[in-house]
Amino acid sequence: MSRIILEARDIRYRYPRGMEAIRGISFHIRRGEKIAVVGPNGAGKSTLLLLFNGMIRPDAGMMLFDNEPFGYDKASLRTLRKRVGFVLQNPDRQIIAPTVFQDVAFGPVNLGYSERDVKHAVEGALRYVGLEGFERRPPHQLSGGEKKRVAIAGVLAMDPDVLIIDEPTSGLDPSGSEDIMELLDELNTQGKTIIISTHDIELAYPWADRAILLLEGKILQEDVPDVAFGRPECVRKAHLSMPTLLELYFELQKRGFSMPERKPRTVLDMLNVIDRAFQNRLCYTEPGSITVFNVDSEGFDSFGCWLKEHPDLPVGAMGTRAKQLARDHQIHMDFTYGVIDKCILKALLGENSAIVTTGSMVMRVSERVAAFGKENGLFIGVSFFDAGTGE
Ligand code: ADP
Repeated sequence: MSRIILEARDIRYRYPRGMEAIRGISFHIRRGEKIAVVGPNGAGKSTLLLLFNGMIRPDAGMMLFDNEPFGYDKASLRTLRKRVGFVLQNPDRQIIAPTVFQDVAFGPVNLGYSERDVKHAVEGALRYVGLEGFERRPPHQLSGGEKKRVAIAGVLAMDPDVLIIDEPTSGLDPSGSEDIMELLDELNTQGKTIIISTHDIELAYPWADRAILLLEGKILQEDVPDVAFGRPECVRKAHLSMPTLLELYFELQKRGFSMPERKPRTVLDMLNVIDRAFQNRLCYTEPGSITVFNVDSEGFDSFGCWLKEHPDLPVGAMGTRAKQLARDHQIHMDFTYGVIDKCILKALLGENSAIVTTGSMVMRVSERVAAFGKENGLFIGVSFFDAGTGE
């Protein structure tokens, strides 16, 4: 099990002239975890996140980073904030400079990076969030989702170990929200520990490794999401509703169907549960196959031609850069979130599909499809598009 990176020991916090917002909280977060702090408005989520990177100091108890208690002097806080980045809920409050470049450069410049290193850090961060070429743009002309990406890039430019994001999808439309959640997944795949706050339990349920259900400054539940959100009385007490897939699972169970122990977190998982409950076969036809195109290879044009020969083929794009490049090359995208599962669902109906993605994610496709096939005794073919042969 990986090392504990952040820990809270019985922390309490009262706002000056305000009520006690955090009322005795203890828990730990391990390196590489995806944590969702979930609760209704006023539960103390934002306050808790502010305590996590030392922006406010607990009145009692202790915060630790890498097993060392936080120091609250200027130098310690500077070091801490380089390791634990914070993205505010409202990007307009975080973005202050007149151009995207200057804004993202703010952290590295403050940390005393050389001009060359600043440029390198900013370019890397912008490429990562899919905003290459936005350097000279004034941030106030960007869309909500783009502003959020600039704010994330500003934190990424300092290469933190932990990324804290307060309400990552607030103010975004569904597709903008999906893009941000996928970006957080990508960052996590690269090894970053991610902590988000949200009141959207449906969003947190499939995404988080662990969830903290917060109410009135205290932890109501802290566990893997299906346990943390699986007690109706707790969820109700927190003025939330149980995730739909989990509720459906319990309803089928109450009706006496035999259910697998692992709770469904996606539509594909749920389909599996239903098929088992009704003793259906998962796939009644020859499964379709999935063609993967790596955008880091040179063959965009021949891939585009190949797609024209298969006009009805559903295409999914996975990863921020892959989506950006697909847009630039006018490749239509049918799915931009939960892409592998959606292509497996197509395959179960006997339909073929394609996935556009970047180098590091290519293996994830074959691994996920192979794992699904193994679990269900099915073979779904995955092939890699070859620009040389054009197929
Ligand atoms: P959440 O993020 O879950 O909506 P918050 O952490 O913002 O909750 O707020 C927790 C409690 O602290 C609420 O009762 C809120 O009114 C109070 N609070 C938040 N910010 C301040 C502040 N700056 N001054 C006084 N009270 C505050």
